[in-house]
Amino acid sequence: MAEPFSTRNRRGGKPSDAYNLHMPNVIVIGAGISGLAAAFRIRAAIPGVKLAVLERAERAGGNVGTDHQDGFTVERGPNGFLDGKRSTLELCHDLGLKDQLIVASEGSRTNRFLYQNGEMFKLPASPSGILRTPVLSLLGKLKLLTEPLRGTPKKLPPDETIEQFASRRFGKEVAATFMDALVTGIHGGDPSKLSVAAAFPRLPMFERETGSVIRGFMRAAKQRRLDTLARGESPGPQRMWSFRGGLRTIIDALSEQLGDCVKLGVDLRRIEKTPNGWLVRGSGTEAWSADAVVVTCPAHAQAELLMSVDEALAIEIAAIGYTPVHVVAIGYKREHAPLDLDGFGYIAPQRTRRDALGVQWCSSIFPDRAPPGYVLWRVLCGGMSRPDVAAYDDETLLRCVHAEMKITMGVTGEPAFHKVVRWPRAIPQYLVGHLRRVERIESVAASHAGLFLGGNAYRGIAMNDCTERAGWLADSVARFCRLPV
Ligand SMILES: Cc1cc2nc3c(=O)[nH]c(=O)nc-3n(C[C@H](O)[C@H](O)[C@H](O)COP(=O)(O)OP(=O)(O)OC[C@H]3O[C@@H](n4cnc5c(N)ncnc54)[C@H](O)[C@@H]3O)c2cc1C
Repeated sequence: MAEPFSTRNRRGGKPSDAYNLHMPNVIVIGAGISGLAAAFRIRAAIPGVKLAVLERAERAGGNVGTDHQDGFTVERGPNGFLDGKRSTLELCHDLGLKDQLIVASEGSRTNRFLYQNGEMFKLPASPSGILRTPVLSLLGKLKLLTEPLRGTPKKLPPDETIEQFASRRFGKEVAATFMDALVTGIHGGDPSKLSVAAAFPRLPMFERETGSVIRGFMRAAKQRRLDTLARGESPGPQRMWSFRGGLRTIIDALSEQLGDCVKLGVDLRRIEKTPNGWLVRGSGTEAWSADAVVVTCPAHAQAELLMSVDEALAIEIAAIGYTPVHVVAIGYKREHAPLDLDGFGYIAPQRTRRDALGVQWCSSIFPDRAPPGYVLWRVLCGGMSRPDVAAYDDETLLRCVHAEMKITMGVTGEPAFHKVVRWPRAIPQYLVGHLRRVERIESVAASHAGLFLGGNAYRGIAMNDCTERAGWLADSVARFCRLPV
C-alpha cells in the first residue's frame, strides 16, 4: 500500500485544532484543470491536509496543454478562457500569474464569421448588425428582434433541446443558423439533442426571470458593468484570456504549487469503500487509502472506477457520452493566406456537413502564436455531425483540412506547419434530461460519505465551470473533514 490509512478526525471544533491532531487524507483522481484546481483549493481550505493527485497520463493538464514547435504556439485543447465568470481569473491571481496573462485582440471579440453557401458572413453583434445581416430573411430578423415581446409562457417545458428553445424564442431560422453555430463551436454537439438548461443555463433562466432572453442579456451586461466598477476596474465587454506561454502556464503553476502531491503515470483501476474510508487501487499491487476521494476524470473513467462502490451510480455516470473533436493546427506563410482576417474565426453550420466544423484564427486572436510572416489556425473536425471525419487517419485529416482551407480561406500555398491533436472523447454531451441525471448522481454520491464528484461531465464544460466547481469541491471536502465522526 502506497500510503497508510490515516486516523480520521471529523470531530468538529476549530478546523486547525482538528487537523493538527489527525490530518485528513484526501485523494484527487485526475490532474486536468478540474483536479489540479480542486487540489489547490483543498490545500488552502484544509491546512496540513495529506493530499495526493493521481493522474493516469504522463503529463498533467488533461484537455489543457500547449505545444511550442517551430516558432508556433499550439493549444492542444482549449484556446482561452472567458472572464464572464471570475473563477479562472481568480485562480490565476492566487497562483501569481497576473503578469503572464494576455487578452485576446479586440478584432477577435467583435469579428466572428459563419461560412455557408460558399461565403463568409460576419455574425451580427448588435441590433443594427442583425438588421443588415444577409444571413437571415426579413421574417427571420423580425422573429429575432421581437423576442422580448414574447414573454414567459404560462407553462414552461421541464427540459427542452436547444433547437426547440431557440425556435420557440427566436424562430426556426435563428435556431438553424446562429444556435447551430454556437453549439458547433462550443460543444461539437447536436442542437436537436442537447439540453438548453444544461448547456446554456442562462437562456431559460433569463426567460423565466425577465420574460426575455435578450432582456436578460441586457440586464446581465448592466450588472457586469456595475460589478466591474465596484471592483475598481474599467467596465468593458466579456473578453477571452490566455498566457504569453499558452494555457499550459496555469497547469505548470498548479503542478509546481502542488509539488510531489501530483503523481503522474498512475493507472487506477477501482475505488473501494472500507470500514475506515476509501481505498483507491492501481493496476498492480499499488493502493492508496483516504478519508475522502475527489473524482474528476471523465465520466466513462469515473464509472469504471466506481463500479465496485455502487453499480447503479456507475451506470448512471457512464450514460454521459462524449463527442470526438480533433484539432488540426495548420500554419501557412502569410502571403499564401489572402483571407487573413482580423477576427476569431468561422463556424460552418452542421447541416452544411463541411469537413471542418470551424476554424479559430489563433494568430489573429493572440498575435504571438505564429512566427513573423506566418499565420496559425486551428481547425476543429468531427463532432456529433461528422464522426466519419473524426475516424480519418492523420494524413487524410490533414489533406481534407488543407483542401477545406483552399475553399474557405483561399489559401494558395502548401501548409508550412501542422500538428494533429486527437480527442476521441473531447466534450461531454449534456443531452435532454442531463440535469435530472446529475441531480440523481449527486444525491446517490452524497450517500457515500467522503465521495466527491467533479470534472466537466456534470455542470459545465468551460474551464471556468471546472475551476468554479473546484472551489465547491474544496468547500465540500473541508466541511466533510470537519464533521464529527
Ligand atoms: C478541443 C477542445 C477545445 C476546448 N476549448 C475550450 C475553450 O476554448 N475554452 C474553455 O473554457 N474550454 C474549452 N474546452 C473545454 C475544457 O478544456 C474542458 O472541459 C476542461 O479542460 C476539462 O477539464 P477536466 O479536468 O474536467 O477534464 P480533463 O481535462 O479530461 O482531465 C481529466 C484527467 O483525468 C485523467 N484520467 C482519466 N482516467 C483516469 C484514471 N483512471 N485515473 C487517473 N486519472 C485519469 C485524464 O488523463 C485527464 O488528465 C475545450 C475542450 C476541448 C477538448
